[in-house]
Amino acid sequence: ELYNKIQDLKGNIRVFCRCRPLNSEEIAEGASVAFDFEAAKDGELRVKSNVAFKKNFKFDSVFSPEANQVNIFEDTSSFATSVLDGYNVCIFAYGQTGTGKTFTMEGTNENRGVNFRTLEELFRVIDERKSQIRYEISVSVLEVYNEQIRDLLVPSSQTGVAAKRLEIRQVGEGLHHVPGLVEAEVSNMDEVWEVLKIGSSSRVVGSTNANEHSSRSHCLHCVMVKGENLVSGECTRSKLWLVDLAGSERVAKTEVQGERLKETQNINRSLSALGDVISALATKSPHIPFRYFKFPWLFKDCKFKSFSGDSKTLMFVQISPNENDLSESLCSLNFASRVR
Ligand code: ADP
Ligand code: MG
Repeated sequence: ELYNKIQDLKGNIRVFCRCRPLNSEEIAEGASVAFDFEAAKDGELRVKSNVAFKKNFKFDSVFSPEANQVNIFEDTSSFATSVLDGYNVCIFAYGQTGTGKTFTMEGTNENRGVNFRTLEELFRVIDERKSQIRYEISVSVLEVYNEQIRDLLVPSSQTGVAAKRLEIRQVGEGLHHVPGLVEAEVSNMDEVWEVLKIGSSSRVVGSTNANEHSSRSHCLHCVMVKGENLVSGECTRSKLWLVDLAGSERVAKTEVQGERLKETQNINRSLSALGDVISALATKSPHIPFRYFKFPWLFKDCKFKSFSGDSKTLMFVQISPNENDLSESLCSLNFASRVR
């Protein structure tokens, strides 16, 4: 509780920067690393001084390439408790394709990421509180691609061209709902794991080129929490959004045409709308520029409340260590600095 109070004083938006390690190909090519992590423990990221563009960035935490999934989660786990305390929480990963967004959020079988670990922590705390509070948890998994929503918990045989498109409806002041979206009730980690597996496998099934597709779509997990205090009878409802965003890379307009251009415009528009919303929230601006794009609307209930103080947002800005990727990395770092 003290931790939550301290967080409130510091504002409701945290930004963590994570840099992936050089991969074997880059090592073989003798790629150089663009950053130094000397001051990482103070949240400072420095662009190396021998690099043309010198700049320092400050974040709530900076994770060097050596940081593992456990280290990342040590600083993230309190968000799980916040959800159970009735806060709306949004954790998302932003960055160029190939920088580890999916690694951070989803992880691998051996190196599970934030999604799995957050739910695991959720169930650990639920068990700790079970004599006072009864919780019900359900999970939805959806994908936003070209401004269209696909339910990843509906088997792909049912999601052909004929499948009805899901829409976002406003159901109250600052509250949005996607009618028809599957909400899978889960009561333990085995059930959670099943749901996460179904979600990530249907993401792959629906596309001809899995990497290409995942870099151009947003993947969202929504965890709905209902709590009932067995003593006072008080009820809480909150949501946890876990989001693996589309790649933030800027594709030169001249390089793409037709469908691909439309896709790129949709991605850039939704990411920049998201940036505007978050930065307005960060500066406590009275005007929140929610635009008429579907993707930020999904968060509207969550972000709207974050303005009034009962929600928390954590952004992972993911970067590549490779000096050749520096200009993309700087774009991401500048975006992240803007929201902080
Ligand atoms: P993105 O989702 O941003 O496109 P991925 O998560 O798919 O990027 O990561 C690209 C590759 O780099 C994957 O093979 C992934 O396993 C690996 N990778 C990313 N981050 C790390 C890390 N911190 N440690 C080890 N491998 C990583
Ligand atoms: Mg990915």
